[in-house]
Formats: sequence, C-alpha cells, structure tokens
Amino acid sequence: MLISKLLVSLLFVAFALNHINAGNDENGTYTNPEQYEIVDLKEKSEKPRNIILFIGDGVGVSQINAALTANGGKLNLNHMKHIGFSETQSADNYVTDSSAGGSAIATGQRIDNGAVAMDAEGNEIPTILQYSNENNKSTGIVVSCAITHATPASFYAHQPSRNNYEEIAEDLLSNDIDIFIGGGLEHFNQREDGRDLTVDLANKGYTIFSSLDDGIMDTQKPIAVFTHEGHPPRFNERGDLIPQATAKAIEVLNKNEEGFFLMVEGAQIDWGGHANSTSYIIGEMLDMDRAIGEALKFAAEDGETLVIVTSDHETGGMALHGGDAETGTVTAEYTTGGHTGVMVPTFAYGPGAELFMGIYHNTEIFFKMMNLFHFDY
Ligand code: MG
Ligand code: ZN
Repeated sequence: MLISKLLVSLLFVAFALNHINAGNDENGTYTNPEQYEIVDLKEKSEKPRNIILFIGDGVGVSQINAALTANGGKLNLNHMKHIGFSETQSADNYVTDSSAGGSAIATGQRIDNGAVAMDAEGNEIPTILQYSNENNKSTGIVVSCAITHATPASFYAHQPSRNNYEEIAEDLLSNDIDIFIGGGLEHFNQREDGRDLTVDLANKGYTIFSSLDDGIMDTQKPIAVFTHEGHPPRFNERGDLIPQATAKAIEVLNKNEEGFFLMVEGAQIDWGGHANSTSYIIGEMLDMDRAIGEALKFAAEDGETLVIVTSDHETGGMALHGGDAETGTVTAEYTTGGHTGVMVPTFAYGPGAELFMGIYHNTEIFFKMMNLFHFDY
C-alpha cells in the first residue's frame, strides 16, 4: 500500500516536471514562427475528366464468380480494387426491372418498374448523360442490344413505358450523343408512323454506319452505328463487336478536352439469366470483361478517367454448385427465370474510385458521378 502510494506520487512529480520543461513559454502563450500548408489529398483523386460506366445487366456475385472460374481465375475486373454493393429496389417493387434500375443509376431517382427516366407524375428526370452534354462533355453509348432497349434508353429517353420503342427512338433525337453503337435500326426506319428517323439523324449531322469500319475514325462527330436491325446476336455470333466498339467510342470521345461520359452495357448477360443458361451468361460476361479491359487500358494511361462497373439487378437467382478454374468449368443452378432483389457489386478504378466502397442504394451512383464531375443539380 505504501509502496504504491509512493509510486503514484513519484509519477505525478515526474509528469509535472516534464510538463513544465516541454515549453519555453513563461506565460502560457506561444506564437509559431513557421506555419505550413497541409498536404492536399483531394485534388488528383476527386476530379475525373472522363467517366466510363459499364452496366452488366443481370450481374450479381455468382455471374462474376462464374466468369472468373471459367477464365481460369482471372478477369480484367480484378484490376478494380474499390468495390461496393448497391441495393437495387425500385420505387414500387423490391425486385427492379432494367428500366427502373437503369434510370436509378442514370438519374438518381427511384421510379416505378417499366418507366424510363420519368416519375409517376410524368415528370422527365434529367440523366447523367444529359448533364454531361449540358456541361460540354462528349457523350457515348455502346450496347449489345437495340439502342432503344430499356438500359440505354434510361440515359437519353423519358417515357412512361420501356415498350414505347418508337417514342424512345424519337427521344434520342432530342439529345446530343456524340457516338452510339448498337442494334435497333428498325425502330428508326421501319416505324408504324411511316417516318424515317435516319433522315432526322442525318439532318442533325449524324453520319450513319452499319458496322465498325475504319471510316468511323475519319468522320466528324456525331456518329451513329446501327450494327443490326433488331438486337445484335449473342456473343458467339458477334465476335469482338463490343470490346472493339468500346475502344472506338473512347478514341472518338477522347478528342474533347472537356472530357466525356460513356455508358457501355453488357445487355445479354440478363438474357442468359432469364434463359437459366450458364454458357450464355459466362460468354456474355467474358465479352463485357474484354470491353472492361479496353476501358482500363485507356484509363491507366490517361490518369483522369474513372471506370465504374455495376449492374441494375441480378437475374436468375444463380447459385454455383461446382466448378474448376483449371478446366474453366462451372456448374450452376437457378431459383427463378426472372430477376432477384439481391444487392449487386459495383467496382471502380481511377480518380474517385474510393467513393464507390460500402453499401448504398444504386441511386447514389448518379450522385457520386455528378459530384465527381462537379456538376450543379
Ligand atoms: Mg439492359
Ligand atoms: Zn431482365
């Protein structure tokens, strides 16, 4: 008892002496002769000039895991170290469809299933692509479906129903998309109203191509590439269309010093999910991953490009029951022919990528992009 009391007193004396000796001041006041600026950690990492947004339609963790195993345990996606999860619920349903899911990412608002960048009162909601145009950035869309389909439409059209393909095609004309590549020519020139919107596109300055021939690079923007009348065929028939289209779109868009926004959709991963077809899902996943590789190559060199890979929802309730990365074999089972409500992974690479970590609703992706681009809204 005595010893411990003695120790406490000794410690107190030591502390008091030390405290007095630490400063040279005699009256408690100190003026620092040299102030320094603290390091700025924000400048480089929060200001991407360009954003390339990939939407893998119907992609949950199982779809990614299946593709990873099928490709021997490696994907271009593995380069993207900042990973989060986005919740996908729409305004009226725990399980979203692709138009409400696409619109949530494109506009930052939850809307009802089936609607396209339009709320229940019929108000048109501006999209990240439209804000990008307003702010003098170039814009582009590359998809493995018709350009009028739900996901791409969510970025440029405002319709109460995703099935209004002809109205959606008309809506495209009121945007200033610098380059778009996809199918869906029939909604422009084989219409019930008899109009030929390719004439309107030409009047708007578009050069229209039917394939990714070299002429694209020598052409002034805007550029329209309709690869097919309807949807492009599945991966095994269309070759490297999407990776090539992604690379070309980046090359065309990168001519603008103000930067660009590009949306690329792996549209048919979802269709593989609806068909409960493991080969269809994996083939389309690997196709999108090759396109992601093109974007990452550009972003790594550019240093001012943020690449985001996300999804609108999971499709199929896919579960992996077996696999072998050495042989590239995957065995899966499915719980539904429709979509599920499970959250989906979001990957990011480049300036601002760290903002995409954590769990958030998919509408947050819009606000993160808007803030990173320093757009007013
Ligand atoms: Mg889609
Ligand atoms: Zn679907």
